[in-house]
Amino acid sequence: HSADVTKVINRVINRFQQRYPEARITTTYSRHLPFVPLDERRIEQVLNNLLENAIKYSPPHQVIHITAEYLPGEKHIKVSVADQGIGIAKEHHQAIFERFYRVNSSWTQKIGGSGVGLAIAKGIIEAHGGSIWVESSLGHGSKFYFTIPCELIEEE
Ligand code: ATP
Ligand code: MG
Repeated sequence: HSADVTKVINRVINRFQQRYPEARITTTYSRHLPFVPLDERRIEQVLNNLLENAIKYSPPHQVIHITAEYLPGEKHIKVSVADQGIGIAKEHHQAIFERFYRVNSSWTQKIGGSGVGLAIAKGIIEAHGGSIWVESSLGHGSKFYFTIPCELIEEE
């Protein structure tokens, strides 16, 4: 069914803040975001995996910024999750979405993980007909994007 993606994001943030009270999360939502057909539970998992990474791969107290936007004429909404953490070198931008792939650095070794969070997120987003990608460079933070198609715009 169709849902307001900002409600889904806010719900995930609220739950996340209970687990990580020190997390600093800000949001910017564009006006007139259409409702989009999505599986709320699964999109919550995508957001949760991206937020967990933003926390894990950043020094404490850095701001995480989430946006949701819709550009009239485009057939999707676009969500981004940006951190000010360790960043990811370009050569890993594709591979991190593969199951079990982890960038090998002293930071990622110390933090640990199984390398499946982004593969799960990619599977969910592609099942919705959208795409997921990252813009990042080493030492300059990371910004993950995903889109969800909204060909059939429902009025509120
Ligand atoms: P888990 O299965 O617990 O999520 P993970 O975090 O290692 O383990 P993914 O979430 O799939 O696995 O991420 C894959 C790899 O991509 C990470 O190991 C890390 O090297 C890199 N990565 C993911 N998100 C970020 C980020 N926000 N900043 C820097 N590196 C990241
Ligand atoms: Mg992860």
